[in-house]
Amino acid sequence: MKKLVNDVSGVVPDMLEGLALTHPEIALLDGQTVAVRADVADFRRSVRVAVVSGGGSGHEPAHAGYVGRGMLTAAVCGDVFTSPSTDAVLETIRTVAGPAGVLLVVKNYTGDRLNFGLAAELARAEGIPVEVVVVADDVALDTGEGTAGRRGIAGTVFVHKVAGAAAEAGLPLAEVRREAEAAAAAVGSMGVGLSACTVPAAGRPGFELGPDEVELGLGIHGEAGVRRVAVAPADVVVDTLLDRITADLALAPGERVALLVNNLGGTPLMELQIVARRAVRRLTEQGFRLERAWAGSFLTALEMAGCSLSVLRVDDRLLDRLDAPVSAPAWPAAHLGRVRPEPLRVPGPPAPGGVPAAESRPAAAVAGGPPPRRVLERVVEEICAALVAAEPELTMMDQAVGDGDLGISLARGAEAVRREFPGYGEDPAAVLRALSATLRRALGGTSGPLYAVLLLRAAAVLEEAGGVPAARDWARALAEGARAVSELGGAEVGDRTMLDALVPAADALRQALDGGAEPCGALSAAVEAARKGTAATAAMTPRRGRSSYLGERAVGRVDPGAEAVAIWLEVVSRTVCEGN
Ligand code: ADP
Ligand code: MG
Repeated sequence: MKKLVNDVSGVVPDMLEGLALTHPEIALLDGQTVAVRADVADFRRSVRVAVVSGGGSGHEPAHAGYVGRGMLTAAVCGDVFTSPSTDAVLETIRTVAGPAGVLLVVKNYTGDRLNFGLAAELARAEGIPVEVVVVADDVALDTGEGTAGRRGIAGTVFVHKVAGAAAEAGLPLAEVRREAEAAAAAVGSMGVGLSACTVPAAGRPGFELGPDEVELGLGIHGEAGVRRVAVAPADVVVDTLLDRITADLALAPGERVALLVNNLGGTPLMELQIVARRAVRRLTEQGFRLERAWAGSFLTALEMAGCSLSVLRVDDRLLDRLDAPVSAPAWPAAHLGRVRPEPLRVPGPPAPGGVPAAESRPAAAVAGGPPPRRVLERVVEEICAALVAAEPELTMMDQAVGDGDLGISLARGAEAVRREFPGYGEDPAAVLRALSATLRRALGGTSGPLYAVLLLRAAAVLEEAGGVPAARDWARALAEGARAVSELGGAEVGDRTMLDALVPAADALRQALDGGAEPCGALSAAVEAARKGTAATAAMTPRRGRSSYLGERAVGRVDPGAEAVAIWLEVVSRTVCEGN
């Protein structure tokens, strides 16, 4: 079992200490695993009803995270998924009870009902006014009379909120109880599990789910659900849950509701928002008036992946209770649950008006040879084809030393270039500048801005040279482009980046031309230098980019960015020098 715990028997006290240390407004009841408002002594003298909840731990932020003004006065925390003892509940009642008495909000599990129920009985015998409200919101269970009945799950948090607000408003115990009961009767919930969770003391997951299975209607203690089904798109799952809930609540179109999208603990927020998106749309499409919605971790089951949805039928009074201010850390006070039926979309800036025509001078054709635009077009197309073909190889290389996206990024860049090339200008400088803009948008990652700056600088060099660029102009463009990459990215030759291919290639190209070589001979020399430089990266410790986090572990493998440079340089040489 891999968990950030110390002694498994200490997880609950350790957790509560962490909570109290980071939330000075929450105190710990001495000798108990109970979180209580730090101002409990003042509170007890007030005329307000105390609201107490709790149950097994493992549902964080429930229940201790809801301790605060406007919600719970105290939370009694049992061991993981284990009801707290009667005595712990009784001591909590005695600690918080003022003249107005105490309301206990209990989730419908046998252990919780017995321990909270007995504690209430004992407290009453001591003269403390105590009422109990039981929440049984799980609509997945069809249970009749004579059974344990439905479980209490995330809808309980709505009941905490309503009871806490009613108590804070100064209502007497009977009224607070009535409002809490009304909320409990008006909420329905259902969950879906994607993976089980591991109770620290057990050390193993509570159940097994196949890779393609999800558990519908599971409980929050890692107990199995009512139905195991194949994975389906989020929208389908959400519809299944919601339809069951709204049918169970017998909600009619036009009725007003609040929604709680609850993370069972191990669901990425990304997925939770995907769920929230559908839930909002579905409720709205079905004609319900969605007044409030929240998405987050409210009542979890350790690290279980999955979520639950809770729908609460609301009226003005209930909405007031939901909107009332709260100081408990786990209630999203800043958000207020506001919803829109559709996302607001603000218009972007007006589209920039392309490359000004004047910048795109047609280049004169070289006598005898094909016009440069045609050559450039062929070279670019061949490079695109080569990069698309190299995708798997570059992906593998980047997976080994980076994050594995380089192959996909370059292939995506190549596809974008293919699409946009027809709209590029006429002369080589304009083409390079347009290429830069395409790659800046389409490539992403580290390579995106580096290739964009390389091409931008190279374009400037060609522009400055004017006319039809000669081999020397191209050589200078490559060298200056490499320099721009180094300036922007801060890397030098030897740092194990694309520069280890680019710089030697640019040097070799210039030297060969200086030495009187023909353009094609010089290009071959450049390709050879790029290949050698690329091979040499295998012996280098990365100092730049993502690979640098690997340090020595990257040694022995070639840098994928350098490999990509060698690939496209080879294509340039092959295409330009075809037939030579
Ligand atoms: P990431 O996924 O890390 O954002 P990419 O996958 O787009 O980056 O590109 C990885 C390649 O980028 C590396 O193999 C390396 O050649 C190159 N690279 C990383 N950092 C730099 C830098 N500072 N300067 C030049 N090239 C770099
Ligand atoms: Mg990468």
